[in-house]
Amino acid sequence: MIPFLNLKGINAQYRAELIEACTRVIDSGWYIQGNEHKEFEKEFAKYCGTKHAIGVANGLDALILILRAYKKLGVINNGDEVIVPSNTYIASILAISQNDLVPVLVEPDINTYLIDPTKIEANITSKTKAILPVHLYGQTCKMDKINEIAQKYHLKVIEDSAQSHGAYFGNKRSGNLGDASGFSFYPGKNLGALGDGGAVTTNDDELAQAVRALGNYGSHKKYENLYKGINSRLDEIQAAMMRVKLKYLDDETRKRREVATYYLENIINKNIILPTITCKDHHVWHLFVIRTQKRGELQRYLADNGIQTLIHYPIPPHKQVAYREWNSESYPISEQIHDEVLSLPISGVQSLDDSKLIVKILNDYK
Ligand SMILES: *Cc1c(COP(=O)(O)O)cnc(C)c1O
Repeated sequence: MIPFLNLKGINAQYRAELIEACTRVIDSGWYIQGNEHKEFEKEFAKYCGTKHAIGVANGLDALILILRAYKKLGVINNGDEVIVPSNTYIASILAISQNDLVPVLVEPDINTYLIDPTKIEANITSKTKAILPVHLYGQTCKMDKINEIAQKYHLKVIEDSAQSHGAYFGNKRSGNLGDASGFSFYPGKNLGALGDGGAVTTNDDELAQAVRALGNYGSHKKYENLYKGINSRLDEIQAAMMRVKLKYLDDETRKRREVATYYLENIINKNIILPTITCKDHHVWHLFVIRTQKRGELQRYLADNGIQTLIHYPIPPHKQVAYREWNSESYPISEQIHDEVLSLPISGVQSLDDSKLIVKILNDYK
């Protein structure tokens, strides 16, 4: 069986270094916000090209804390609207709802699966305060267009970079393409911890300070509380794991690109639509997503031939029970994407033999 993602194999590459880092933390006697955390924040900010990186507990918290910080700074208020793609992982939308803000869903481009900038302006009202583009599957959104609109209407741009660690747009990286950005280090992400983790990146000093305080009980100074905050911190041990894995991230991305290039050049089947890439350097291939009208049948055929695939994602946010107030609304492009996408195995440890076998089996499908 070719697994969708061989996480064990990915981390096995760095086993000795991970154990050494783990031992370092155990022996330090310091387990929350110590030296590893501080160094990881510096290293990750440098990697993204931003002034600040703030470690938090997970990717959802990263997005929640950015929006909450903007509320505390008086930039956004309860009931304001945030524009977000209609085809994202639910966390992008939850972050908006959990701050008592209103998500306004905007349809994606059917070819790139990324928010369609030409549809944003029609959705802007006097309540709109931010745009939350999601660099879905590892490809950056059209940030030039999005930032242009944001500037025109004085909106904040908050990137969801949970799937796009290291992806470029022009000469800047994901995390440095808007006003602030949320990252996830969930184990299966391109930069994955050995548990939960996340980060906020920004060049805004005030915002960085507010996010840092809000994630630490609202405290900017020990036993003094500016805000009614939460506890959302990146564990010292996860920070140490990430410091090891960050060094190899570009190498992992290069290997993912090799798999993706092989698929793009060799999968030929009239039933299958391959992903559209806007620029080679823009994509870090968190997922390699094909589209087909015969998804159920193709997924079963692949499983019968020993290839595991997943669907990202089977149900659009507006059809979720959690958002029953939207259930009768229609977002046809998003719905079509959710009905037709299928994610093929891809990772930095996938062998060429496995990629060849996957392509052969796909090309034989009638
Ligand atoms: C994974 C993911 C998140 C949430 O990250 P967690 O660390 O799992 O909380 C948010 N947005 C997108 C697009 C994701 O893929």
